Amino acid sequence: MTDVAVIGGGIAGLAAAFELKRRGHDVVVLERQVRVGGKAVSECFGGYLMEHGPSSVAAEAPIQSLSRDLGLESEQVELSHAVRRRYLVADGTLCGIGIHPAAFLTSSYLSAKGRLRLMGEMFVRRSESEGEETVAAFSCRRFGREFADRVIDPLVGGMFAGTAAKLSMTATFPRLVAMEREHGSILKAVMRAQWRGKPMPGRRLLSWRNGIGTLPRALAGHLGQSVRVGAAVRRIMANPWGFLIDLGASGSVRANAVVLATPPHVAAQLLEGLDPDAAGAAHSIEAPPLAVVFLGYARHRLPHPLDGLGYLSASAEARPVNGSLFCSSMFPGRAPEGFASVAVYVGGDRAPALAHLPRRDLIDLACRELADLLGAKGAPVVARVRHWGRGLPQYRKGHGALVRTLGAAKCRQPGLFLTGNYLAGVSVTSCVAHAGGTAREADAFLRVASSGPVRVLRSGRI
Ligand SMILES: Cc1cc2nc3c(=O)[nH]c(=O)nc-3n(C[C@H](O)[C@H](O)[C@H](O)COP(=O)(O)OP(=O)(O)OC[C@H]3O[C@@H](n4cnc5c(N)ncnc54)[C@H](O)[C@@H]3O)c2cc1C
Repeated sequence: MTDVAVIGGGIAGLAAAFELKRRGHDVVVLERQVRVGGKAVSECFGGYLMEHGPSSVAAEAPIQSLSRDLGLESEQVELSHAVRRRYLVADGTLCGIGIHPAAFLTSSYLSAKGRLRLMGEMFVRRSESEGEETVAAFSCRRFGREFADRVIDPLVGGMFAGTAAKLSMTATFPRLVAMEREHGSILKAVMRAQWRGKPMPGRRLLSWRNGIGTLPRALAGHLGQSVRVGAAVRRIMANPWGFLIDLGASGSVRANAVVLATPPHVAAQLLEGLDPDAAGAAHSIEAPPLAVVFLGYARHRLPHPLDGLGYLSASAEARPVNGSLFCSSMFPGRAPEGFASVAVYVGGDRAPALAHLPRRDLIDLACRELADLLGAKGAPVVARVRHWGRGLPQYRKGHGALVRTLGAAKCRQPGLFLTGNYLAGVSVTSCVAHAGGTAREADAFLRVASSGPVRVLRSGRI
């Protein structure tokens, strides 16, 4: 019998378990795979470091304090000064634009009319409508169609592997919606923040010397014997005294509370017998497949300066690739001296079928793309592929209602808590923040439960 069973040893599950343990609870983390981390996998080989999932995190409070608590500050690496611009594909070639948001106002990437309309955002009245807008509709209304199609669409393809016309603005970019509500204009809000010397959230990116995988490894290190890998949960049953977690041939675990930190499709299966409403909501959240192709080249065979984070491509460009990251320009130690590494992202909501292409075809596709856009010459010296059968959850229109149904599971089933990237932001930073909040709720529940009333409530219901 344990206080809390955390199901899923990705970033969210581990961060929740870490916080619960710190608050004095007995925790067990049950992870299906043989290693922890979920999507956060960093692999080193021959002087290269490939990130299979996240490659940088926003240097915001939840990550900074977790990194400090885990003693990882000295391992932190900041985004290199070599990253001086962002690249967007314009009519089949790369166009470099300064990192500062105002750089769009001076770059020829947008037409003069498009730039004028962008500045006009300051005079667009805030929406009075109560209806939910898509990302495409919101950006078109505020910034004009050209900016929506040529900047927001590729950004959404890169950050969320999604389609701007399908994603909910409130669920995907809640901060921008709040800026419109509070300041009447996004540009005014950005300018006011800058005058006050406040950096825009998400502008500073960081990683650790040995990659993002450092974070789950360190969390698991602190949790020690509390982490059980190779433990796939089959079923969760509620009892008057708590929960019985069925691990098939590996036995079972009894716990007073459960934190479910799996991807949404697994949450849907495990919630089926416990809370059909929440199961249905989790089942509706799609996560289209995504492939990552990592290529290493001798530096002289990639003539491009690689002086950016990477490049993104608008749907209208009709390319097979959503975008790429110039890994070796971002952080030190991502490629051996004299070599460069690039990660190419294929699939997502735009072209899910492409993510299922065989390894060889994906490498060929990525090499052709880099030859075309970066002038890559000859074959890469290393090529690796990671297929994610389910990539990033899509916060489509109506996502807010699904999250409310999922959030109410803890009222319908006392002691059951949900966390993960399908609830309050897909980024590692958002997952850590949500997991911390979930752990605090579970802590409060356990304190009340140990004094009696919840046991009575459960017994009465069952
Ligand atoms: C290609 C890619 C690039 C990304 N890039 C970035 C980036 O640059 N920056 C950023 O901030 N974010 C990025 N993200 C998003 C971010 O990595 C994820 O949203 C986040 O890591 C998800 O964490 P999680 O713990 O919610 O889920 P997961 O990492 O999916 O963890 C869930 C865990 O549950 C386990 N599990 C599943 N079923 C069971 C079961 N039955 N029993 C027990 N365990 C089970 C799984 O094995 C897994 O370990 C990227 C994601 C991808 C895929």
